[in-house]
Amino acid sequence: MRDDDTIAAIATPPGAGGVGIVRMSGPRAVALAAALVGRDALDDRRMILARARDPATGQRLDEVLVVAMRAPRSYTGEDVAEVHGHGGAVNLGRLLRAAVALGARPAEPGEFTRRAFLNGRLDLARAEAVADVIAAASERALRAAQVALSGALGERVAAARAEAVALLAEVEASIDFPEEDLDFLPAAAVAARAEQIAAAAAALSATYAVGRALRHGIEVAIVGAPNVGKSSLLNALCGEERAIVAAEPGTTRDYVDARVVWDGVPVTLIDTAGDRVVEGASHHEIERRGVELGRARAARADVILSLREAGGDGPLDEPTDARALAVWNKIDLRPAPAGALGVSALTGEGLDALRRAVLAKILGAAGEGSEEVLVQSERQKALLDEAVAAARRATSAARAGRAAELVAADLREAAQRLGAIVGEEVGDDVLRALFARFCIGK
Ligand code: GDP
Repeated sequence: MRDDDTIAAIATPPGAGGVGIVRMSGPRAVALAAALVGRDALDDRRMILARARDPATGQRLDEVLVVAMRAPRSYTGEDVAEVHGHGGAVNLGRLLRAAVALGARPAEPGEFTRRAFLNGRLDLARAEAVADVIAAASERALRAAQVALSGALGERVAAARAEAVALLAEVEASIDFPEEDLDFLPAAAVAARAEQIAAAAAALSATYAVGRALRHGIEVAIVGAPNVGKSSLLNALCGEERAIVAAEPGTTRDYVDARVVWDGVPVTLIDTAGDRVVEGASHHEIERRGVELGRARAARADVILSLREAGGDGPLDEPTDARALAVWNKIDLRPAPAGALGVSALTGEGLDALRRAVLAKILGAAGEGSEEVLVQSERQKALLDEAVAAARRATSAARAGRAAELVAADLREAAQRLGAIVGEEVGDDVLRALFARFCIGK
């Protein structure tokens, strides 16, 4: 992958559509687009109607709109040209092949955004947000991604980094000029400021629980003895959202999945086979396997609803798994214990409280609308946690009166980790992994 050639890709999704776009970026982008429609040149930012022709045969390909956006005022910061043809995979494929025949190279996934990053058009946190905007599966996920795309996350990180760099400079001054009669920061002040940096990074890191839930959704498994109402509960929880539910039976008796969206969070409900008893020995092996698969699936879930019958003699002990919520079903027949989470899959009573309890388990108190700035990627979260750890080490080193060199080393590390979030000093391997999850054409 070279960053100085001209790339081309279909930028619109596959399938039929009114319009589809072939996008080009690089030093020859405008010349190639002009050649494709038989013009000598294209004005900047002026869309024209033209005919695209096959460069080899002169055969008419499509009636198109063409526009040139010259560097640096373009998405990638390079010369960009767009050819808007009629939608449809075959038509756009032909236009793309014509651009390649003229000398463009088919773009890799995310290569346009990668170039935008390399040319300083957006920081890495914003580049990641581009993919999140495209992939957003709910309104709330989209809002969070748009906040990051606006640069708000990058700004918060950059502010913490600037503070780390400023503090580092002060500490280093005391190393470099020990004899000068300067007013060095007392160790207690260094410790306090390092602690603030750790707190700022930790606060951002803590938003990942919500960011992750919005981006990847959460899985909720329903487990319990036969006949406590697991299937009924799953159906009842999907009830109001039938339209967006795609219930898929797993293999015979392992589990059933249903996808819903609660408060903007994509939720996958899993009804495990439980320890269902079947008649007939021939089913036995399949059944056992199904129960195993169901258990394995439940073991990966983010929340486990441990269902029992109100007043029944199911397992009444409190579940020990931190992910588990004890839920009493069939409260239309008998009341749940005082203070317990009671529901009726039959009448729908208690289901709203159950939904809220599930979300609260993952999101804490953060409700809809609380997502000002959310960390949405594992990469960002890992770097933030490393920054927190380094800043905390700096705090205790300063407090313990250790050598300034040691404090400086930890502060430098904190600054470096924060910088990496917005793309300072990140290696090619990081960029490759990050942009690989983009689609081609973005
Ligand atoms: P599973 O084996 O745990 O999946 O249980 P099912 O969902 O198949 O339900 C077992 C039986 O309990 C069925 O006859 C349901 O109609 C009944 N049932 C489930 N939930 C309720 C409830 O909330 N109230 C009442 N009265 N019956 C329920």
